[in-house]
Amino acid sequence: MPDPIQAVKGMNDILPPESARWEWFEDVVRTVMRRYGYLNVRVPIVEPTPLFVRGLGEVTDIVEKEMYSFIDSMNGDALTLRPEGTAGVVRAAVEHSMLYDGGKRLYYMGPMFRHERPQRGRYRQFHQVGVEALGFGGPDVDAEVILIARALWRELGLPDVRLELNTLGQAEERRVHREALIRHFEAHREQLDADAQRRLHSNPLRILDTKNPAMQALVEAAPKLGDFLGESSLKHLDAVRAQLDAAGQPYRINPRLVRGMDYYNLTVFEWVTDRLGSQGTVCGGGRYDGLVELVGGKPAPGIGWGLGIERVLDLLQQVNAAPPAAVPDVYAVVPDAAALPQVMAALETLRAAGINVLMHAAGKDGPGSMKSQFKKADASGARHALVFGAAELAAGQVAVKPLRDAAAQQSTRPLADVPSWAHTLLNA
Ligand code: ATP
Ligand code: MG
Repeated sequence: MPDPIQAVKGMNDILPPESARWEWFEDVVRTVMRRYGYLNVRVPIVEPTPLFVRGLGEVTDIVEKEMYSFIDSMNGDALTLRPEGTAGVVRAAVEHSMLYDGGKRLYYMGPMFRHERPQRGRYRQFHQVGVEALGFGGPDVDAEVILIARALWRELGLPDVRLELNTLGQAEERRVHREALIRHFEAHREQLDADAQRRLHSNPLRILDTKNPAMQALVEAAPKLGDFLGESSLKHLDAVRAQLDAAGQPYRINPRLVRGMDYYNLTVFEWVTDRLGSQGTVCGGGRYDGLVELVGGKPAPGIGWGLGIERVLDLLQQVNAAPPAAVPDVYAVVPDAAALPQVMAALETLRAAGINVLMHAAGKDGPGSMKSQFKKADASGARHALVFGAAELAAGQVAVKPLRDAAAQQSTRPLADVPSWAHTLLNA
């Protein structure tokens, strides 16, 4: 036998019964998005590499070391498996002039790819849900997108997800702050680690994000962006805060909160939990008013977030939040292979009436003993077995045998009038 082939490291199969949790989560997402009027977009998983280099910024973790980039051997195009969703959605909005008649509220779900060291909550193919509200510049939409995430936690029954909030101000305010930062770090060059040295002039803001304990004091003493913000930036933050306060959503202002991508301005936020170890950020986002123009569109504001589905599902598992069990309403028992055409037709009628039917698969040697079929019917969790015996079929009927309720009686039902009794089979 040839060696078995295994999945790529850090890229996981999602199989039953775990996939039921995924479907449940996705259903909740769709419900919540409808509630807020956000419409689904589906963009390609592969994009031209320059989209991410330009959109995310060259000196970001993602672009520097996490992208799956390759040259299309057919035509030499530089392509990348998308590491995040915002750039692609913005590209699509620009390419299809989606904003010509006003703002758009959009969401997506799907796989993302980053070449990171696989560990709990960190994979090479992972999945995100994201929202992007394009064309709205006001703080109301900032509060709205943040509250969409809260609605998800509530709907899923997730406790203990906290909101952290910050503002990055505007580009000009950040430029002045950045110069002050560089001066501060330059004055203490000997305390910078190699990463910080490298970033000193390219991306000093990211030095504030360091996890190196030896640099904490230096980072604490660094000039704060808050001291460089003008009135309009401060007003924007205050308005977001007032709306979150009114909606009863607590938050912590975290002046250290910067996001991985260059494109953010004003409001940035993260939803975090202590239950997932060091991979505690389940959702992060912010405003990106410059991105549409950067991608080649007419300037338009934008705000959004991305949520790591694996981390949310991990959290759900920890609190034992489970989707409703996916069991069939009925299991079809087939005593004789000769009856299969009639059985198949009857089962289609049942399904058309909204009943979830699991058919006993006969296989090429016939359906097997009644005993083994009833064993499978029982294991399936179905509430009833439908028994398609020769006598019943000859009379145009099927026997309905209750499997969960010892006191309930077996009955026979007419196949000609499935809708009149189908609902009695539904799992409560
Ligand atoms: P982190 O600091 O954990 O690396 P990030 O800032 O790179 O996160 P974003 O790019 O903001 O993450 O993506 C949004 C969300 O996607 C994260 O909050 C996280 O829940 C999830 N996420 C990011 N990278 C991964 C990954 N490699 N595997 C699983 N989930 C991820
Ligand atoms: Mg990351």
